[in-house]
Amino acid sequence: MKIEMVSEHASPLARVGGPDAGGQNVHVGALAVALARRGHEVVVLTRRDDAHRPTVVPFAPGVTVEHVPAGPPRRVPKDRLLAYMHDFAAALSRRWLVRPPDVVHAHFWMSGLAALDGARGRGIPVVQTFHALGSVKRRHQREADTSPESRIHLERRIACEADAIIATCTDEVRELTAYGAPPGRVFVVPCGVDTTCFRPDGPSDARDGRFRVVTFGRLVPRKGVDTIIEALGRVPDAELLVAGGPDRGSLGRDAEVRRLARVAREEHVAGRVTFLGRIAHDDLPSLIRSADVAVSVPWYEPFGIAPVEAMACGVPVVVSAVGGHLDTVLDGVTGLHVPARRPGTLAAQLRRLLADPELRCSLGAAAAERVPARYAWERIAAETEAVYERLVAASSAPVAVADRA
Ligand code: UDP
Repeated sequence: MKIEMVSEHASPLARVGGPDAGGQNVHVGALAVALARRGHEVVVLTRRDDAHRPTVVPFAPGVTVEHVPAGPPRRVPKDRLLAYMHDFAAALSRRWLVRPPDVVHAHFWMSGLAALDGARGRGIPVVQTFHALGSVKRRHQREADTSPESRIHLERRIACEADAIIATCTDEVRELTAYGAPPGRVFVVPCGVDTTCFRPDGPSDARDGRFRVVTFGRLVPRKGVDTIIEALGRVPDAELLVAGGPDRGSLGRDAEVRRLARVAREEHVAGRVTFLGRIAHDDLPSLIRSADVAVSVPWYEPFGIAPVEAMACGVPVVVSAVGGHLDTVLDGVTGLHVPARRPGTLAAQLRRLLADPELRCSLGAAAAERVPARYAWERIAAETEAVYERLVAASSAPVAVADRA
């Protein structure tokens, strides 16, 4: 199949870890590569956000990234991109008039908007993955949510118009149903993990004898890193390494890092918390392997690739019992669940793991066994391909001619 992915702000070429570059960038790149390995031709269309980048960039065998001009050719925060989606859709429409793909897969709501508008009247099936839903974001972030006012309304429209929706966890299906998405068009396909890179064996970063807690991801308030810092005060002698945010050299200028450092001072654990800054994706496994436990306690989480990567490394995880974590972490078997925003409960689970090396071993081993079986990209690509094939078969099926008699 000729597959075109639309990912307006999240390019697989971006360096992940900053506020607008995380799981979606990893997902789009890895899914595209895994689909190409299955013999498909994949183009990822993303907004041109750098005037000096070539229009077409080869990414991997069978995968190219193409930059679509829409709005200024520089980085614009994603919550301000809606104004350029009309131009993005027009560019897609022109492109698909001459070279229609077999299927379009849009990632994030604004991509869905542009893809549906661009594909209108062309008979090209559009698959939508939201990655995050405005309704959930608004519920948790309230007035701190900087998404455009119209987001939820437009997401409802996409949910009703897309030919198929790929939800990344079962919890999302409930939200999509509330949006009015036709149940027969919603399929659950989780995100995947690079199990060749994230695996239990391999190098491990240096450490001393202290109990090491690691967390990694975009440094935004909803990721709950402050909860982990607050919990640390109640876990004697433990250290916390925080990966993510800007490069190490500019950590001092980052508002969220400064806020978290203040929390650490208030909790009297500043000497036990280290901010590492953004770590290259390929360097994360050796950091993770050096940890006794990986923690991810966001307020909400559409999927949460980070804890699955830690599990793939055989490291026990403690996660908030929200969103994708409810599918990926089997409580008491492949990790532990805690409620979000509850440092006391998190501290109790960390003390339990600190005191029980056998429990750490058994959780880590069970996780390392489950992840390659369930979340390897080959399997995720096969399940995604099955959704595409249904739509392609339906769109090319002969239309019954009415009996004129
Ligand atoms: N990540 C990274 N370097 C960092 C911090 C995060 O490569 O310094 C990666 C992490 O390994 C994961 C992704 O960013 O693959 C975060 O995805 P997740 O689904 O956990 O969160 P999201 O960014 O989608 O909210």
